[in-house]
Amino acid sequence: MKTLPMFLGGEWVQAVKGGTRAILNPADNEPIAEVTDGSAADAEIAIAHARLAFDSGPWPKMRAQERAAFLFKLADLIDKNSDALATTETRNNGKPLREAKYDVGDAANCFRYYAGLATKPLGQTFETPDAAMQTMVVREPIGVCGQIIPWNYPLLMAAWKLAPGLAAGNCCILKPAEATPLTAIRLFELIAEAGFPPGCAQLLTGPGAMAGHALAASPLVDKIAFTGGTSTGRKIIAAAAGNIKKVTLELGGKSPCIVFADADLDVALEFAMFAIFAGQGEVCSAGSRLILERSVAEKFLPALAEASRKIAVGDGLLPETEMGPLITREHMERVLGYIEIGKAEGAQLLCGGHRMVDPPHARGNFVAPTIFAETRPEMRIVREEIFGPVQCVQLFDTEEEAIRLANGTDYGLAGGVFTRDGAKGLRVLKQLRAGITWLNSYHPTFNEAPWGGYKQSGWGRELGTYGLDEYLETKQINISLAPQRPGWFRSAAEAHVS
Ligand code: NAD
Repeated sequence: MKTLPMFLGGEWVQAVKGGTRAILNPADNEPIAEVTDGSAADAEIAIAHARLAFDSGPWPKMRAQERAAFLFKLADLIDKNSDALATTETRNNGKPLREAKYDVGDAANCFRYYAGLATKPLGQTFETPDAAMQTMVVREPIGVCGQIIPWNYPLLMAAWKLAPGLAAGNCCILKPAEATPLTAIRLFELIAEAGFPPGCAQLLTGPGAMAGHALAASPLVDKIAFTGGTSTGRKIIAAAAGNIKKVTLELGGKSPCIVFADADLDVALEFAMFAIFAGQGEVCSAGSRLILERSVAEKFLPALAEASRKIAVGDGLLPETEMGPLITREHMERVLGYIEIGKAEGAQLLCGGHRMVDPPHARGNFVAPTIFAETRPEMRIVREEIFGPVQCVQLFDTEEEAIRLANGTDYGLAGGVFTRDGAKGLRVLKQLRAGITWLNSYHPTFNEAPWGGYKQSGWGRELGTYGLDEYLETKQINISLAPQRPGWFRSAAEAHVS
């Protein structure tokens, strides 16, 4: 099997130390590719290329219209290759093909959105108390940006990072997750085809603790944009402290899906399932806690469990599949471990709770859709991010209790509320300590709207104008229109050189 290279300084190269990594299909754990596995040494090479490209290359100085043209071209190439990209994403990540297709379309549109935004006015001008002084504020790229992404949305996360970073004129080094580099490699083939200048966009494959850490720690990197687990986020903060890098973090979640008794319960049931089981629950904003009004629990929960049991779990490439395998054996074991913890903590299993080992599933990382009732807020399954198809039900009697339960978490990424009472819905949403919220819906996201979390779910925002902001420095320029001596030091006031 040919070892797939990484893309550094405009060239396809192998890792300096020659390491390789087998990439597996999570549906059967068979190898589907081998990629070069970089280390800190490769990160240093990438950083040197990016520094050169930023400090003396064309990209940051290029007119925004020209940068936009590259990004539009890339978006078109993604669309042209969308079927192949989606299939690769499903084979590598496991998600059903229809989800992968959404991701590919979203990724293309993300590049398009930021291509458009690159050319929109960004600065400000001010009147100052000094009529002879004109002040303006301009926005400039930050510099060399390390961008580290997880395995759950491999292509889409690459787009969320590269599109605003490049649109703003930065030179970006993307480090995909170890398990899922394949669509990123294909994306960089398209970046090469689009003719981006060397060094402005690079792909560094390799382990987080080595290649990723080197980006976070390097004094030559100006910003780190990270999406991943909260514990890794803490390491990134520590590593970035050396040169006080700019840091943005999109971290974990334990998000509430609140269902009031007066909701359209059929709609709420479907969204409660979609909230947790879309993407196998490997979604940072997953509605992993169903916060349900007690008076409807008796009819709602059996129907929810029955429908969840019937989800078609299988190989994402099969058209009938609705939920795929978990990313790796190791991650599946972690999720199964949490299920055992939940049972031991005394939660009541409503459905699932086991690995699927019957013939079509035997070799893959399949976990049955799982719902726990009879939970208590202090249980680990209620507090910790499981990142798999496991939902915990918490019951409430009053609006205040629903809000208290919903906010009773270290995280603050997302949350949904279901009710027919619009005023109540808005009231509750406004009290949720979370960055992304929905009324009578769950999960839809838009390139135009900011994405990110409160509390331990992160720092900063991606997407929308907010996402571009995170890749820009802000400079004030003060222009004296009528130069005069300041007259501050007598000796200087008496000095003459002309
Ligand atoms: P992870 O933190 O293990 O890895 C994420 C990335 O960080 C990978 O590329 C990995 O190689 C790299 N990495 C690991 N250790 C590192 C280190 N010491 N220094 C630098 N880089 C390092 O996360 P994961 O398991 O790939 O993804 C799951 C997590 O991502 C979940 O917690 C999930 O909630 C979170 N996530 C958040 C968002 C969001 O937008 N908030 C989106 C997707 C995923």
